[in-house]
Amino acid sequence: MLQLLNLKIKFNHYISIYNILILLRKLHNAVIARVYNGMCNDFTKPSKVSLLNKIKNMQIHAFLLFVIILLCSCQNAHNDHKTSLPSNKRQNQQLKHSIIIQPFDGLPASSVEYVAEELHKIYSGNIITKEPIPLPNTSLNQNKTRYRADSLIRYLDDFTKEGQLIIGLTNKDISATKGKYPDWGIMGLGFCPGKSCIASTFRLKGKNRLEKLFKVAIHELGHTQGLALTETNHCPEKTCLMRDAEGKDNLDETINFCSKCKPVLIKAGWEIK
Ligand SMILES: [Zn+2]
Ligand SMILES: [Zn+2]
Repeated sequence: MLQLLNLKIKFNHYISIYNILILLRKLHNAVIARVYNGMCNDFTKPSKVSLLNKIKNMQIHAFLLFVIILLCSCQNAHNDHKTSLPSNKRQNQQLKHSIIIQPFDGLPASSVEYVAEELHKIYSGNIITKEPIPLPNTSLNQNKTRYRADSLIRYLDDFTKEGQLIIGLTNKDISATKGKYPDWGIMGLGFCPGKSCIASTFRLKGKNRLEKLFKVAIHELGHTQGLALTETNHCPEKTCLMRDAEGKDNLDETINFCSKCKPVLIKAGWEIK
């Protein structure tokens, strides 16, 4: 495929040189014609020698112009080649993700730190924890009781730069449309594929609710990377982080990404331990 692309670039390059040659030839002829015409309009009859000298000069100028354009053309083609065909090293760099943890106002700092620490245990890539930001009022539902998870994800997407994935964390109630329920309370949401996800502590109970928060967050982040494409297509493995919650809290049973889910993340560029 790369070789084909390479050939195409070369072909286009030669076509453009050929076009320049044709253009220069036409320009050259036009200039000579103009010299002739100019001299004929001049009521002074030009001598044959001075006419030939002028044509010769024009030819030299045209040739120099051609060489300059040719050099510029080669340089441009070289640059195009560089941008069109990135090296393996460059491709690998593009695959690496920085994971941004973006807390919303109200979530205790200790909860954010816990998620970051747990993430460091499984992800060896770059992890950045940001300062909390206010929840956007525009994401509130009609009754202003919950924040729409899909709206928060779109909000976070605007902060996402190339090569970044964002985990949004909140202690507020979040919801999404689920089947016949237009405003179903959820623990987290991530689009597949996507760049950002959201996880909430609001529906998490028990002493280990922060551990559950991390599991919800990493599950939703897994969705953004192509895992479990649909709601009914979650991982069947009981201990896998990509297991379906099935409308209840079974997070204590999930431990890690299973042997089928893990390679998907690695292929997506994750530096997973
Ligand atoms: Zn899921
Ligand atoms: Zn799995």
